[in-house]
Amino acid sequence: MSLFPTYNRFPITIVSGEGTNVIDDEGKQYLDFVSGIAVCNLGHRPPEVQQALQKQMDQVWHVSNLYQIPIQEKAAELLTGATDLDYAFFCNSGAEANEAAIKLARKHTGREKIITFKQSFHGRTFATMSATGQEKIQEGFGSLLPTFEYFPYNDVKAIEEVHDGHVAAIMVEVIQGEGGVIPASAEFLRTVEEKCRELGALLIIDEVQTGIGRTGQAFAYQHHGLDPDIVTSAKGLGSGFPVGAMIGRSELVEAFSAGSHGSTFGGNPLASAAVKATLEEVFTVSFLEKVEQKGTYFKEELEANLASLEYVKDIRGQGLMLGIEVQSEAIQLVHSLREKGLLAVIAGPNVLRLLPPLTVTEAEIDQAVLLITEVIHQQQKDLQNV
Ligand SMILES: *Cc1c(COP(=O)(O)O)cnc(C)c1O
Repeated sequence: MSLFPTYNRFPITIVSGEGTNVIDDEGKQYLDFVSGIAVCNLGHRPPEVQQALQKQMDQVWHVSNLYQIPIQEKAAELLTGATDLDYAFFCNSGAEANEAAIKLARKHTGREKIITFKQSFHGRTFATMSATGQEKIQEGFGSLLPTFEYFPYNDVKAIEEVHDGHVAAIMVEVIQGEGGVIPASAEFLRTVEEKCRELGALLIIDEVQTGIGRTGQAFAYQHHGLDPDIVTSAKGLGSGFPVGAMIGRSELVEAFSAGSHGSTFGGNPLASAAVKATLEEVFTVSFLEKVEQKGTYFKEELEANLASLEYVKDIRGQGLMLGIEVQSEAIQLVHSLREKGLLAVIAGPNVLRLLPPLTVTEAEIDQAVLLITEVIHQQQKDLQNV
């Protein structure tokens, strides 16, 4: 093995995929309820995106941001059109999108402090690792960027008590993904927004996992009628083509003038073709309504089959971003499900996280519910017999 072992990899090799289905090198088929961690929102190899990429492949792959890139502007218009924001900056990942947001907030406000939350996840670069409220992610790397303060998530009172003129921004996830599929309460999000206005700080919403239709709105903050200054996106943005974006208000434009920030690859023609084709599909009322319906159905079916079990502590989430909190390590469930042909992932030690493609069918949801129910009933039995 010549790879740094930064990942504990499961012992399967996926060699092809279509829609919700993937096949491994032994010919075994799986229902993919991971979607590359909320990346393949249109399923594997969605034809519209494949065609757009193929067309762009025949024209030009990469053009520096030193030149005009009309398809990047179209991709930006789709993002600003789906939000109340005015400008987009393209980069290559979620961490880079958050990195851009942190830099922009500091430069625009002339302040340094940024409030983030415990169990949050914002990325692995130095600034975004520092923003992340999890010691296990920061361990061993020495001093962090010093200007982050971690507040308890969903704690309205703690935010109300902030009276600090040095806060540049509050950065928050609408549903903590890596932290355990933990939705923010409406009251908490409203309080965070009001506090930003009161302090003259920017509201940054990290939509890297929750965005691109995942929860049944283009971006999850839209369920709460929030009015953020900056929104960050990546994961599902390019249907698997690596791309990220930071979207912000027109007032911020001066702080990101020519020469202030950049990216060699960010929003190159291939990436922009993937973004444009993805968003044209996802950011439509009918598509998002279906995500909402399927999410409600999936959650109701899980509740009907599992909520009464002692082993199951909670079933939560929104749209097609669901978590099942259980009484033991959820990784056991992931292994058992994989053996039965369903891919799922954990979020924190005790939460089974389900992120099917947004194009998942009701029949595929039924099949997944059946397997999850089987595996969880078995797990409860095994634990009782110990
Ligand atoms: C995955 C994720 C990131 C980091 O994205 P990368 O593309 O891995 O850098 C940041 N924030 C949230 C909420 C995420 O889920």
